[in-house]
Amino acid sequence: MSESTIESDAVADAVAARAEARFDATVERLSHYLTFPAISCDEDHFDDVRRLAKQIASDLSELGYDNVRVLELDGALPSVSAEMMGAGPSAPTVLIYGHLDLQPVKGEPWDTDPHVATIIGERLFARGSADDMGGWVSHIAAIEAWRDVAGGLPCNVKLIIEGEEEIGSPNLERFMDTYPEVFASDVMVLTDCENPSTEIPGLTVSLRGLLEFELTCEAIASDIHSGLWGNMVPDVSTALVTLLARLVDDNGRLAIDALRPDWPDAWRKDARNIPLDADSIRESAHIIDGVDPLPEDGRPAAEWLWRQPAITILSTTLPTPDRQKNALRASAGATLSVRVAPGQNHDEVREAIEAVLLKEAPSGVKVTLTMAPGGAESWLYTPKGPAFPAADRAYQKAWGRPLLEIGVGGSIPFVALFGRRFSDLPLILNGVMDPLTGAHGPNESLHLGVFKKAIIANVYLLDELSRAVTPA
Ligand SMILES: [Zn+2]
Repeated sequence: MSESTIESDAVADAVAARAEARFDATVERLSHYLTFPAISCDEDHFDDVRRLAKQIASDLSELGYDNVRVLELDGALPSVSAEMMGAGPSAPTVLIYGHLDLQPVKGEPWDTDPHVATIIGERLFARGSADDMGGWVSHIAAIEAWRDVAGGLPCNVKLIIEGEEEIGSPNLERFMDTYPEVFASDVMVLTDCENPSTEIPGLTVSLRGLLEFELTCEAIASDIHSGLWGNMVPDVSTALVTLLARLVDDNGRLAIDALRPDWPDAWRKDARNIPLDADSIRESAHIIDGVDPLPEDGRPAAEWLWRQPAITILSTTLPTPDRQKNALRASAGATLSVRVAPGQNHDEVREAIEAVLLKEAPSGVKVTLTMAPGGAESWLYTPKGPAFPAADRAYQKAWGRPLLEIGVGGSIPFVALFGRRFSDLPLILNGVMDPLTGAHGPNESLHLGVFKKAIIANVYLLDELSRAVTPA
């Protein structure tokens, strides 16, 4: 170890201590942002998104960031950008991404006010506490500590805080095209992901995609008496159920061999170290007494959750209790979604599903299959280059262990977009969520120990990246 490395370690340690000493003030800053009901899917709250964007921009200016802007585009909610480029051209530039908008809370049984940060035990409850306000605030806190102690940052930093992540980032690519200078960087740190436990930091390297389709069965022009015609006229409702049953095994898992990827044994072995056992799944997923998680059947739970496709019935037009009558129905339909395995594309999934559903219609009914437009691409990433060992060293110092590679079973459109647009850059995906966070549901919470370790890790991350990554 060179003398300058030792010196730089000492500075980073002092910065980390400063960040830790300021932790209560950081929680206060976060709590203030959480009072804004910045719900991007609800036009009644668009003003709150805009107000929050302005508040963040004004705070960043006060904290000494340069080029602070509320970025606007027609028909889009704003994003906030800012930078600190004082480390100069010999230092790498790190882009930090987070989002300021929130999921709705309507109709959810919260135990506390979702827009008032409430600390109970070691958790802070509020909508957006971990998804994703705590994520980017953990970086702001680390940067503030660097400024306080060292007068500046070891690398250049750009911030982009999006206002439309929770509605699928519909305009993020337009922001990238319109404001390319905001995204130009050497390494990207994207906060909005989960840690496998409050003790183990996670690095997200895969996402499942999302594909939706509609299935309809038709047989007769209008409803008819089931007593007069049952047994000689096809029943579209049972035909629909029979068709749906073709797609799944007895555990409700998508049972199409062509869509079940085989992962290397080495990957499976590592996946068994991920803390996802029956008990943790039971607790996190709120499984009721008397019901068990599904069997592993030779594949680790992490593989089923992250790397195998899953199918869900989103809605049906089967008769509902209020429409109950003794009749054969004219039509029955269902809308389904497939969580697409990382690395699989929509075309292969669509073809495999068509092959199963469009052969030999049950009862000879007319079957129509319509793919919904849009969806989300899956994503599979191989971390390579010096940024990742650097991140591991930073996390080792803050968490006592390096990042564990994990996946996300859901789809995060902004990640797939960054992956496609910046595939040649190191993309470090992490965040402050943990298995009990409950993002997108009632009683979302942030584990304060995780939050503190994230801040400290971000302090060291800037230091480590400044030495590991060569600017382009
Ligand atoms: Zn999020």
